[in-house]
Amino acid sequence: MIPNIDYHMHTALCGHAVGSLSEYVEQAIALGIGEIGFSDHAPMVHMRLQGVTMDYRQLPLYHRLIDEVKAKYSGKIAIKYALEADFIPGFEAKTQEIIAGYPYDYIIGSVHFVNGWAIDDPMAIEYWKTADINQVWRDYFKLLRQSAQSGMFHIIGHCDLPKKFGHRPTADMSDEVKATAKKFKECGVAVEINTSGLRKPIKEMYPSPIFLKLYCAAGVPLTFGSDAHTPGDVGKNFREAVELAKSVGYTEYVSFDKGKLAQRIKL
Ligand SMILES: [Zn+2]
Ligand SMILES: [Zn+2]
Repeated sequence: MIPNIDYHMHTALCGHAVGSLSEYVEQAIALGIGEIGFSDHAPMVHMRLQGVTMDYRQLPLYHRLIDEVKAKYSGKIAIKYALEADFIPGFEAKTQEIIAGYPYDYIIGSVHFVNGWAIDDPMAIEYWKTADINQVWRDYFKLLRQSAQSGMFHIIGHCDLPKKFGHRPTADMSDEVKATAKKFKECGVAVEINTSGLRKPIKEMYPSPIFLKLYCAAGVPLTFGSDAHTPGDVGKNFREAVELAKSVGYTEYVSFDKGKLAQRIKL
């Protein structure tokens, strides 16, 4: 069995994903997935970066393209309106403005920037060379807690992204993760199993089993996302994702509708 949802996928509008929305939808249907959400990168609020996120002016087109596939595949699959938005402290109002501009079903809040640099960017490898790795992780977890606290997001994306290129913490981070999981639970945000880590140098899903176990223990709801940037990656490694979820104790996952937790689905 694979999960019935894939809640994290992109479109060519962000500038670094390929394929038409129909191709993403058809791949999901072929796998037997009943519900997907397009969660393309929301416009960047703190700097201009080409090829990283959509532009404000593209949002009407983004919504129109989703409307088109919703109509085209009606009765075959449910399609949700979503965004993946960066959490940048100090820019909450601007982020909120984007999120409030449309009735999204859910918003994935992601931390890609720590202390001003994009930790998941291959260009940032140089920064990693001189960074205090454990401190980056601590700062990262603090930002995750602030993301949840902001009240802007329903799901927090790829919750141990700093490991992407292999920079695992050498210090014990369980207290950080426990505090983060507690905050997620308090704020009512879900965590996602994001399978894209398997396609990155770390070759492991986000988050790691030891971290995910702490989110499960804290009672944090779960979603699944492939983070597909190409149609062929929709629903990728979802069987393994279910195994991971079960192995840490999850017995269900959740879906969202119009900004609210909609269903609890048995694993
Ligand atoms: Zn992307
Ligand atoms: Zn992301």
